[in-house]
Amino acid sequence: MSSNKYRILIIEDELNIRSFVKTILETNGYQVLTSGTAKQGEWMVTSHCPDLIILDLGLPDMDGVELIKKIRKFSRVPIIVLSARTDENDKVSALDFGANDYVTKPFGTAELLARVRATLRNSHHNTELTNGQYGKFVVKDMEIDYDRRIVSIKHQEIKLTQTEYNIVTLLSEHAGRVLTYAFIIHAIWGSADSGSIKKLQVNMANIRKKLGSKPGDNQYISNELGVGYRMYGNE
Ligand code: CA
Repeated sequence: MSSNKYRILIIEDELNIRSFVKTILETNGYQVLTSGTAKQGEWMVTSHCPDLIILDLGLPDMDGVELIKKIRKFSRVPIIVLSARTDENDKVSALDFGANDYVTKPFGTAELLARVRATLRNSHHNTELTNGQYGKFVVKDMEIDYDRRIVSIKHQEIKLTQTEYNIVTLLSEHAGRVLTYAFIIHAIWGSADSGSIKKLQVNMANIRKKLGSKPGDNQYISNELGVGYRMYGNE
């Protein structure tokens, strides 16, 4: 067993999916641990310190979202949630309670591997960002200068309102990760009311227009329908 491999814990009760995911990951050089229950999975998080968790939301002994809450009390280990198409609400609460990303069943090998790579990369990137705090964020030809509070594309300043700037910065601090509507609203306005989502959507539409994204061609920010927004991370 090589010690420099990333260690991934799969918590999934369906044997077929568990072995499918295990095989994909092992073939691609990851070390894999598995659990069929939430209780054993939780124990394995503390005893084996995985670098990443792939968690099914529908487990027999505990709700997956409950398990995320428990894990987040003691660990920041990245979590990718596996959800069925019918669990739309669960997926959103999973993200709100600290999951890093999600994959909807049925999923393909390429999609799962891309999510795993991106999540591992972003968790390191975010650690550096928190430690560095100030500085610059660069993705493609966009640059955010946190000290001067300026966003520019190809060295051309983009005029954003205070709120728009705050949203862009928030997304950049979590680049690569989907932020739910509730998460963004709470971070930007503190509390939510019936008009909050509309207000967020209006701001996002303006931001995307100013950043030059045509509909369907989002270079910097993707719109995850019904869930939230994601700023693309650095490759
Ligand atoms: Ca299940």
